[in-house]
Amino acid sequence: MQLKKKGDKTALNVMKGIESPSSVNKESAKKFLKNKKRNFELDEVVNGILAGNISVLSTAITLVESNLEKHRILANKIIEKCLPHSGNSVRVGITGVPGVGKSTFIEALGMHLIKTNHKLAVLAIDPSSEQSGGSILGDKTRMEQLSAEKNAFIRPSPSSGSLGGVARKTRETIILCEAAGFDTIFIETVGVGQSETKVHSMVDFFLLLMLAGAGDELQGIKRGIMEMADTIIINKADGSNINRAKLAKKEYENALHMFPPSDSGWIPNVLVTSAVKNTGVKDVWNLINDYEKLTKQNEFWQHNRQQQAKYWMHETILESLKTNFYQDETKKAEINEFEEKVIKGEINPFEAARILLDSYFK
Ligand code: GDP
Repeated sequence: MQLKKKGDKTALNVMKGIESPSSVNKESAKKFLKNKKRNFELDEVVNGILAGNISVLSTAITLVESNLEKHRILANKIIEKCLPHSGNSVRVGITGVPGVGKSTFIEALGMHLIKTNHKLAVLAIDPSSEQSGGSILGDKTRMEQLSAEKNAFIRPSPSSGSLGGVARKTRETIILCEAAGFDTIFIETVGVGQSETKVHSMVDFFLLLMLAGAGDELQGIKRGIMEMADTIIINKADGSNINRAKLAKKEYENALHMFPPSDSGWIPNVLVTSAVKNTGVKDVWNLINDYEKLTKQNEFWQHNRQQQAKYWMHETILESLKTNFYQDETKKAEINEFEEKVIKGEINPFEAARILLDSYFK
């Protein structure tokens, strides 16, 4: 599957041409962090977040995203203080191949939410940061209408590090956004499986956007991702595409029947939408509300969040161990030495790993 190129107008990317409002301006946050004279007062930051102050929220997210130890320590304290005020949102994951209409759909659904007095945060996980080692994101966002709304907060994907690291940062950002009063959180991604799994593990409801007419293979959608979906949306059901979309709906409904029933008690379904014509979009929100009602009643909602919290504990442990191990300066030479030996066949890779780990944990 093709990853996004710089300059694409996509949901995970940025569109040139409009200035971001302060809510998405990372510059002010960077300045804030660089100001050495400025002492971070924990309570000041936490109170700012709880009061819904967007520039304080942005600064706190920048701390979460920072790889500096001192920022990390402060970020952890902020998260701890925000935790009791978090959890009260509906978290929705949104995925689909580039061009399927994610950003257009998010803008349409997002505007519906804003008009019905919701506060919406849109976050993203960009799996390409791991592969490219750098960011393909800029400081401007591309959902023009939404980004102009004071009750919408759009934050691009954390831009560096492993997918695990990026996902952990997003997970923590959810907590901060909830503490700041956002009642709906969208987390958008595009990828080849891995990033969807990460997003699935941090949301209550998972949406998969598809196109009519293109085969699953063509769309790069793996069976596993379809299985994760609580709802499949066939987008671009407009103009001459309407009938094809209806046909695709039937096909996907049949395909979904083949999957084993979900623990949530929810039966995944297929909707058709046109994000540009804004048809079917509200139905998606009604469906999410139905899901929330059902799973709060049968207690899956809470159970799922508990399981997710457990998963994130283990993910964080694994990520920390990995980072610690590979960033340990004293180990670098030793690791290089063993790499050479493995390449030359002087030692087998499993034995090399065992020796390195033994000496690390000593
Ligand atoms: P993303 O990469 O998944 O975020 O896709 P975009 O939202 O950027 O949309 C890609 C292109 O498809 C843009 O030119 C949109 O205007 C167009 N598009 C999005 N949704 C629809 C739709 O419902 N109908 C039609 N006809 N075009 C759409």
